[in-house]
Amino acid sequence: MKPPAFVEVAVPVPLRRLFTYRAPEALAPHLALGCRVAVPFHRRKLAGIVVGHRDAPPEGVKRIYSVAGLLEREPLFPEELLRFLEEAARYYLHPLGEVLRSAAPALPTGALRKLRSSGFLEASEALPGRKVAHRKELFARRTDAASDKALGNVQREVIAIVEERVEVPLGELRERHPRARQILRALAKRGLVTLEEREVLDDAFFGVQVERDTPPQLHEAQRHAVDKLIAAIQSGEPKSFLLHGVTGSGKTEVYLHAIAEAHARGRGALLLVPEIALTPQLVGRFRARFGDGIAVLHSALGERERDEAWRRLRRGEVKLAVGARSALFAPVPDLGIIVVDEEHDPSFKQEDGFRYQARDMALLRAHRANAICVLGSATPSLESFHRTEQGRSTLLSLPERATRRPLPEVEIIDLKRHRPAPTQHPLLSGPLHRAIGEALEAGDQAILFLNRRGFSPNVRCLSCGEMVECPACSVALTEHRSAGLLRCHYCDFSVAIGRDSGHPEASGMGALADGRCPKCSARDLDTFGLGTEQLEDTLAQIFAPARLARLDRDVATGRSVEAVLDRLRRREVDILVGTQMVTKGHDLPGVTVVGVIRADQALGFPDFRAAERTFQLLAQVAGRAGRGDKPGRVYFQTYQDHPAIRAAAAHDYETFYRAERAARQELEYPPFGWMSAIRIDAPSEERAKEGAERLARAARHHPAVTSFRVRVQGPAPAPITRIRARYRYRFFLRSASRKALRDVTTFVAARIDEGDANPARATVDVDPVSML
Ligand code: ADP
Ligand code: ZN
Repeated sequence: MKPPAFVEVAVPVPLRRLFTYRAPEALAPHLALGCRVAVPFHRRKLAGIVVGHRDAPPEGVKRIYSVAGLLEREPLFPEELLRFLEEAARYYLHPLGEVLRSAAPALPTGALRKLRSSGFLEASEALPGRKVAHRKELFARRTDAASDKALGNVQREVIAIVEERVEVPLGELRERHPRARQILRALAKRGLVTLEEREVLDDAFFGVQVERDTPPQLHEAQRHAVDKLIAAIQSGEPKSFLLHGVTGSGKTEVYLHAIAEAHARGRGALLLVPEIALTPQLVGRFRARFGDGIAVLHSALGERERDEAWRRLRRGEVKLAVGARSALFAPVPDLGIIVVDEEHDPSFKQEDGFRYQARDMALLRAHRANAICVLGSATPSLESFHRTEQGRSTLLSLPERATRRPLPEVEIIDLKRHRPAPTQHPLLSGPLHRAIGEALEAGDQAILFLNRRGFSPNVRCLSCGEMVECPACSVALTEHRSAGLLRCHYCDFSVAIGRDSGHPEASGMGALADGRCPKCSARDLDTFGLGTEQLEDTLAQIFAPARLARLDRDVATGRSVEAVLDRLRRREVDILVGTQMVTKGHDLPGVTVVGVIRADQALGFPDFRAAERTFQLLAQVAGRAGRGDKPGRVYFQTYQDHPAIRAAAAHDYETFYRAERAARQELEYPPFGWMSAIRIDAPSEERAKEGAERLARAARHHPAVTSFRVRVQGPAPAPITRIRARYRYRFFLRSASRKALRDVTTFVAARIDEGDANPARATVDVDPVSML
């Protein structure tokens, strides 16, 4: 390759364009596509990615700067990943430089200052923390050679393990056979296995060893699904699937088999899960099957570990990456399969910076990489199920639980009719109360779901009637009693709330510390509404001496989720109380009772997906009951009667889907109409409004809008009008034609680039999820 004279660099700045730099002679031969380079940018130095080569600078460019340095000798992004990210950036109309920065491992702080005069730096050397230790390990791989030759018993045993597992590290075989090394050498000589020495991480990503499992015999529906997936992988054609399996139907086992098949063909795999911290059990099952050949991309990883994981994937030393949405950008070479578990989960949508939907992009990346994409869920999103109806994706069903246990009986409890007997607590009905009592009596466990953390979600002054709000956001502060704080769930602002400590001059938010109203100073604050913290307290009193635990954002940091789930599994906890975190795929055989405190809670949201979200949460949490030997019972308490609640109670996805599809079609919501949101914010309401109006006015003049193919809805203040001291406006572009919508959205993005919203800030959100 001729060294490039100029390179195009994606610089991490909020501008939807690339910048051209001269390639200095010494560096030019190394400036491959995907390399991270240091470039001068407005008197600063920034780290960008080389995305193009050219012989001459673009026309009309007066001054051209030179690349200042190369930050890694090997390109950070393999070509497949780079091209995919370019396409994602185009789809979401987001600056490529920012997209690439959010995909890449972080550059160590100060790395740019450490650039040597030669212009070279191995940036990872500047990372903090100890170097991750490596050791050499010998791997045995299966071959196609027939193994019917005369073999001893021990040899046959070893061969059987390698056959089944495709690839096994020597260390593991040695645990069963002290002479494993000699046995393997002998087998290798006869061509029955191949041996390969590789470096492996001395401590795997979670540090602990997991015992290897033996795959269970697949049941019929699993077998059928796995066969389809394997055939698709073998065909080498891209194909997408929706694995619709009821809770506990054994979807994970299907993923494991399909990934093993991809591995057997030397191809890589990606597994995306909603929140990795909430799925220690799932990760454990993957480690039990694939051992250390898996990179778990966890938010608790240090910079160096993350960097290390990236490089090991990049070099193909590890062929499976598991993580939350951003794991979609893992540099797995030669992808064979991408799995998106719980594909309906809203956490796959990134809601700030580069706003992308990882599930949608998984389909794109898999397609471009000739890989298959498997979306799995018990409660598929409308979009994904609709794709199967259109024949754009293949539906695979697991209609029964793997254990053959029936799905639990669900009782809907009308809170309007049930007297709060016998505890007098208005949100604990008689039937639910009795069921918890019986479960405890029988030594079983219960889960109670309430989607509100904190003690009391609201604090009001009984003198002036003011609700106590966050000073930076237009939302009520939530009382967190054990911490003695009022906290904002949007910006994390917190303030101490006291009870009568006697500071007569306390005023403003400071008055709260004294138990006084920040507005009128009256000592007349009243807390109301029920949060998980209070529910836990209340249940602990009612059901003493039952052992309680809570799972929500306040208690769940990193490993403590694992600790809570472990205690539950060891039966050290009788009742688990929590937010939607308890609805995730946990497999807890001791749970026989599940109670939903307010099944209609999410229905009031100003969001066209409110019913879908309600159905998903309820069906998922119901699925936690009765997974063991005893049948489960579920209670949905609600004030409102709603088809989504009834369908979830009947475990009836189809009915829910049909009703919801009709509603979406009628109103031209996805998957029958498409939207973009333009979000505008500024420190003053006036500016936000002006910026929004200018952009919306421009959009209204677009031919696709004047010809009624695209509708402009708004602008209007966002439902939460202020967050972090910035006022928020937004408007929506809506159309039944993706193409027309795209034209108008691109046009508005260009207006933003031209400064039409200034001085307000404006961002484009393609296929928005949050309506707030
Ligand atoms: P899902 O992900 O669909 O909710 P899981 O994969 O967690 O379901 O499976 C539920 C339970 O059934 C797990 O304990 C799992 O080990 C078990 N299981 C899955 N497949 C089989 C099978 N073929 N035979 C026996 N048990 C199975
Ligand atoms: Zn706030």
